[in-house]
Amino acid sequence: MVLACYATSETNSLGREIYEDLCSYRSEFQRDRDRIVHSSAFRRLEYKTQVFLNHVGDMFRTRLTHSIEVAQIGRTISRALQLNEDLTEAVCLAHDLGHTPFGHAGQEQLNQCMQEFGGFEHNLQSLRVVDVLENQYAEFSGLNLMYETREGILKHCSRAKAGSLGSIGQRFLNRQQPCLEAQIADIADQIAYNNHDVDDGLRSGLITLAQLGSCTLFAREHAWVIQRWSSLTEKRLVHEIKRRMITCLVEDLISTSQANLSSLDPLTIGDIRQLDRPLICLSDVVQSQNKELNKFLYNNLYQHPKVQDMNREAKDVIRYLFDEFMSKSNLLPEAIQKKIFLDKSEQGKATMIADYIAGMTDRFAFTEFERIRK
Ligand code: MG
Repeated sequence: MVLACYATSETNSLGREIYEDLCSYRSEFQRDRDRIVHSSAFRRLEYKTQVFLNHVGDMFRTRLTHSIEVAQIGRTISRALQLNEDLTEAVCLAHDLGHTPFGHAGQEQLNQCMQEFGGFEHNLQSLRVVDVLENQYAEFSGLNLMYETREGILKHCSRAKAGSLGSIGQRFLNRQQPCLEAQIADIADQIAYNNHDVDDGLRSGLITLAQLGSCTLFAREHAWVIQRWSSLTEKRLVHEIKRRMITCLVEDLISTSQANLSSLDPLTIGDIRQLDRPLICLSDVVQSQNKELNKFLYNNLYQHPKVQDMNREAKDVIRYLFDEFMSKSNLLPEAIQKKIFLDKSEQGKATMIADYIAGMTDRFAFTEFERIRK
């Protein structure tokens, strides 16, 4: 496929930190995707919570299925806009590699635990996983990914942290934009979770079809589907509404972004980076409908007492593990104990413990909790 002039390509890419010979049958961004898929952090996403704790039911999304849905949506958008689909896919699949067990509750708690050591942020941790923590290759630590893949993974970053990240942190200091493929991955993430959380929320019984009637986007698609098919089972009904909501968002995103690109007429990826706002976005109307849905989920699902109970339990586990590991290093795996012994600083120790906890799956965190509590 011919890429647009403002797409990221191997020719205009800033490349890899460590030089590698090119592959004769895969693009460099395909290679990145393949490295991500073969990483151990990627496999562990299977047992990490999205919203519902991993062991609660087999039908709910996990971080792994979430990442695959994000990649599907991202690729569709990327191809429609003549952008680099392989790069978008790589960023989408990697975007949550640094996520802690137990979803956002886990991230919040680990951030609390790490307060005196600079905090913990899952975007930064995803970059750390692909830059440092994966250790399967002979010639480098991490995955030695292309600059633009790393740029996309680091979706957000505080200005305070950005200063210590070298060139990859610069855009947060200069208020510049990442490549368009990274901008797509960011929105594909939001589209995926809003929609699959509606689906999971309904399946769990914590939210109802009637409640969702207050959301414009949902209500409109619901009305359309029941007018066309009046006696669908709830399972078919919900799926039809969900697929239509995703289509509505994706189509709006493609046409709005295409119009932005046509009116600004950027010629290179450099032109994209210099802009003060992202070009990949929803129209104002659909953006407000998407926000309305997100707010609904926040108030009715993420804040639901049953979800909050699960979150409290998860936070207790993370806090306990962190405090115990900090005060008793001998509870940690030997390899980490050795590194702590060599490093000798409290900061280094806290970071290694945060890396260890963030890498855990939900069930491993519970197993460790039970082991240590005995
Ligand atoms: Mg995500």
